[in-house]
Amino acid sequence: MSRHVIVTGASRGIGAAVAEHFIALGDHVVALSRSGAAPEGCAASLSVDVAQSEQVTAAVKDAIALFGPVEVCVVNAGITRDGLAMRMSDEQWRDVLATDLDGAFYTARAAMASMVRARQGSIIFIGSVSPFIGVPGQANYAAAKAGLMGLARSLAKEVASRSITVNVVAPGLVDTDMTTDLGPASDEMAAMIPMGRIGAPSDIAGVVGFLASNHARYITGAVLAVDGGLALGL
Ligand code: NAP
Repeated sequence: MSRHVIVTGASRGIGAAVAEHFIALGDHVVALSRSGAAPEGCAASLSVDVAQSEQVTAAVKDAIALFGPVEVCVVNAGITRDGLAMRMSDEQWRDVLATDLDGAFYTARAAMASMVRARQGSIIFIGSVSPFIGVPGQANYAAAKAGLMGLARSLAKEVASRSITVNVVAPGLVDTDMTTDLGPASDEMAAMIPMGRIGAPSDIAGVVGFLASNHARYITGAVLAVDGGLALGL
């Protein structure tokens, strides 16, 4: 049976691959992003800034009106605004926290209410290995992604009794617009990955699909690194 799946940041990169994964399974995918762009086959796409609480709440409400209770919510939208901490502006700090952490909370909160009523659901946050390995120039991003883990694990306990799972997928380095700017540095980083290659968005999408499947019904509060071994042992 097709499920109602919400994916934030589905216009490109990891989010688009995740949306395509669920579309291929026959699910109704509602794509949220600022641009409102979405992969072919999405049931609906909505233009939303996840950092704006009221926009997220309204979009999830619209999605529920169209397709019923949310069964899977993939909280993926994210940005980077890199800079060494000593020179990082308040704006760089706030922009990243507002999108990557506040936006994640607003999205999960909006989706959770309908899951609690339906007594089922999966929430999957896209985190990062950054908080585990520490990345110079990404204090804002690593802090937001660390916060995401605390958020996810607390939510996991709040809703476990309703058969709702809450997990985090923590990618390493993945080939998307977010990493294009790295240029030659991406080769240097690839050399640090035990598996010797940067990940593809589909590497992440498959794991998200697994966590949303019946095979993973007894997994909650987990942080699953999908990183070719980059954060191994941490
Ligand atoms: P990307 O290619 O830059 O795509 C980012 C997505 O987020 C786009 O769909 C963008 O949509 C959306 N977005 C950004 N800000 C938004 C906002 N305020 N409201 C709504 N949508 C917003 O990035 P990606 O590499 O696929 O990253 C996806 C997630 O994976 C992020 O959470 C990122 O932190 C995480 N991650 C990525 C990597 C990596 O190496 N790529 C590694 C670890 C974790 P529009 O521009 O259309 O709004």
